[in-house]
Amino acid sequence: MEHPTPFGIARAGTTILSVRAYNQRVLLLNLLRHQPVSRIRLARLCGLSATTVTNLVADLLARGVVREAGTDLAAARPGAGRPPQALQLVPDSRLVLGVHIGVRRARLALCDVSAQPLAGCETPLVAHESASQNLARIAAAASALIGRTGEAGDGGRENGAHEIGGRLLGVGVGASGLTDVETGINVFAPNLSWRNVALRDILSEQLRLPVTVDNNVRCMALAESLYGAGRNVRSLVYVYGRMAVGAGLVVDGELYRGAGFGAGEIGHWTMVPRGGKRCRCGNHGCLETLISEPVLVERARQVDPYVVEQSEQPLQAVLAAARRGHAGLRAMLAEQAFYLGIALANLVNVVNPHLILLGGLLWEAFDLLHRDVETAMRRHAFGDLGAKVTLLPATFGEQAGEIGAAALALDHFFFRRPAA
Ligand SMILES: [Zn+2]
Repeated sequence: MEHPTPFGIARAGTTILSVRAYNQRVLLLNLLRHQPVSRIRLARLCGLSATTVTNLVADLLARGVVREAGTDLAAARPGAGRPPQALQLVPDSRLVLGVHIGVRRARLALCDVSAQPLAGCETPLVAHESASQNLARIAAAASALIGRTGEAGDGGRENGAHEIGGRLLGVGVGASGLTDVETGINVFAPNLSWRNVALRDILSEQLRLPVTVDNNVRCMALAESLYGAGRNVRSLVYVYGRMAVGAGLVVDGELYRGAGFGAGEIGHWTMVPRGGKRCRCGNHGCLETLISEPVLVERARQVDPYVVEQSEQPLQAVLAAARRGHAGLRAMLAEQAFYLGIALANLVNVVNPHLILLGGLLWEAFDLLHRDVETAMRRHAFGDLGAKVTLLPATFGEQAGEIGAAALALDHFFFRRPAA
């Protein structure tokens, strides 16, 4: 059912929007969600007057961001003549670069307005090198990808790079750990041993492009909300597990960051207060000590060392053995899934989201985990709250990081900037 969806109130993030910019943001987001859509239906969806919509659309048509295409059958009325002309976003009218900073590597993707990757690459992050050395490597990879240095890998990519022209709006960076979105500083990234790294300013200076930064899991949540399974819900939680565990929260269509940009640190929820394993944060029995990749591999080793040691990719070997019916490994995964379900039940009681998405290794192992996760979540959530939430695997799978970072850039430089 359609209803006015004024997503995009100016309170989140850093930009205070003018009335015109705010109206344009609401219009572009509704266009994204409902296209192809006519002006008249857009006015209804946005809660704006027909005149305001006509003026905004005229401007967007002139800038080549929107085009008229076909008719809006959903707006047709019996006996009212021809259905009205429909509008669509022009996907390749603008481009952004998404940079995902992971634990061992950074992944980059040049994306269009529909967050579709047009080209991509990755570069290693070296633990014993400084943050500035690693960022220089990321900047070099980015430059190659967008054709600034002419060293862009294969010929196809280089040909693509020459066509970028003035369409590139900016760069979104999904950073690891605690990130101050207002200063663009990566305050603390324990997996990289980075403290107070001025990510935004360093990359912006090296690339001579505007850069915006946020936590990488929060970026993945934003991508789901704009382009993925969450595009028609008002609140969702994206839970990511890999070396660490964390969550991104979208509340009423906006990212929720918290007072100190730390909202969603569910990896450090205390699950086993007495006798729990020591966590890298200094506490004991955190969720991360139950369902991160190193923990799953270690538990699997205790169950069946042969499965773990015969493979270069132990987690994948464990999951494959469980899929083939390895009873011991299935029981181990069921126990870890139970704890994740308890954590999600607690999350449901706080956020009461429409949708929970599982990413990273939880996406990879979704088929093995989701029944036990769901059972525990529904049983332990308050009343019937657990029955009202949908649990799904993340939409963008392995590309969640770079598409998330691109979504951050699109949100910042496309949906919020009328002049772009
Ligand atoms: Zn912890």
